[in-house]
Amino acid sequence: MKITDIETLILRVPDLQEDATSSSQDDFVVIIHTDAGISGIGECDTGPWIAQAGLDSPGSHSMALGIRDLLIGQDPFDTTALWEKIYVGTCMSGRRGALICVQGAIDMALWDIKGKALGLPIYKLLGGACQTSITPYASLQPEGTTVADYSRSLVEWLLRAKGYGFTAAKLECTLGGPYRHGKLAGSDEDMTEILTACREAVGRDFTIMVDVQYLWFDAKAALRTIHRWGHLDIFFLETPLRVDNLEGYALLARESPIRIAAGEWLNTRFEFIELMDKGQVDVAQPDIGRVGGFTEAMRVCQLAQDRGRLIVPHCWKTGIGIAASAHMAFAVPHCPFIEFLPAEMCDSALRRELVEDELKIVDGKIYPPSKPGLGVELNWDAVEKYRVE
Ligand SMILES: [Mg+2]
Repeated sequence: MKITDIETLILRVPDLQEDATSSSQDDFVVIIHTDAGISGIGECDTGPWIAQAGLDSPGSHSMALGIRDLLIGQDPFDTTALWEKIYVGTCMSGRRGALICVQGAIDMALWDIKGKALGLPIYKLLGGACQTSITPYASLQPEGTTVADYSRSLVEWLLRAKGYGFTAAKLECTLGGPYRHGKLAGSDEDMTEILTACREAVGRDFTIMVDVQYLWFDAKAALRTIHRWGHLDIFFLETPLRVDNLEGYALLARESPIRIAAGEWLNTRFEFIELMDKGQVDVAQPDIGRVGGFTEAMRVCQLAQDRGRLIVPHCWKTGIGIAASAHMAFAVPHCPFIEFLPAEMCDSALRRELVEDELKIVDGKIYPPSKPGLGVELNWDAVEKYRVE
């Protein structure tokens, strides 16, 4: 089988809010076509126009080759070999950042092709299901322009998620820092009150994670507050510090009564090795598109397993990336949760409409998918509606 063409889509919701901390408002999708008539899809979570340029840019010399040129005519089954070929061939121009995200979308699509060609779901090709079911968690982004409204909204969302059948949720509680929600401004004490209200609303028998989106600049300020959250039984605290503050992460990992989770933005296993060895985080959160596809995400999973750390993949895109996360999660023994917000609970029209999920929540769990490849297909009506390039 040979790759004959790579089609791309840039999609964007019409009501995009530039001040919202939500990357599910746009998408970069690749559709890889083959001479066998099989096509695979993949997506990645980065600036879509940057990704487009990264894919289409012609080669310059042997250290900055063109990704598209490297792929045409190649066998889509050669996922490891092609990963290496692109990584080495673009090492001066790529290596990290947007080009690794492009590589992630491509690798996802190649695995989709392999699964379709063999009639098997991707998790089977990754070695089969290590877990019979996985617990999905709902990522909840509250609304409100005052702390009181925000708190009420978060409790409402949490009860809605519980009513839907979830037994776990991640609360976005971001009242400060560079990615605070809207014009909200609140103190660490306000956050403690909000989280206490959330815990009281769902009771003890419900898993709560918290995402503060890079809120604190220094680890000691973070610790002062995190120590007050010890009794709230929070499963993990996501991205408390700026992304590159690895020494701060190490201090938190040592001192925090709550597991520390990070890694949603990282590219390649090399950044995860730093995060786990220098930053000492407890929970690694590869995003399959951003880390470099299944090929690289599985390496990250292995590195985390070797170190006794958990995997909980990040995914805040469409049903394409969510399906990818689920295949990976089933294929490893140390991924207890996946980020899975049902389409009908999601703000983004792209998340709701671009593909139809194969996965459904049954008794608070998700069970292994059965369709070949990723198990999802593009809804071309939605593509027509949201395509901008
Ligand atoms: Mg996050």
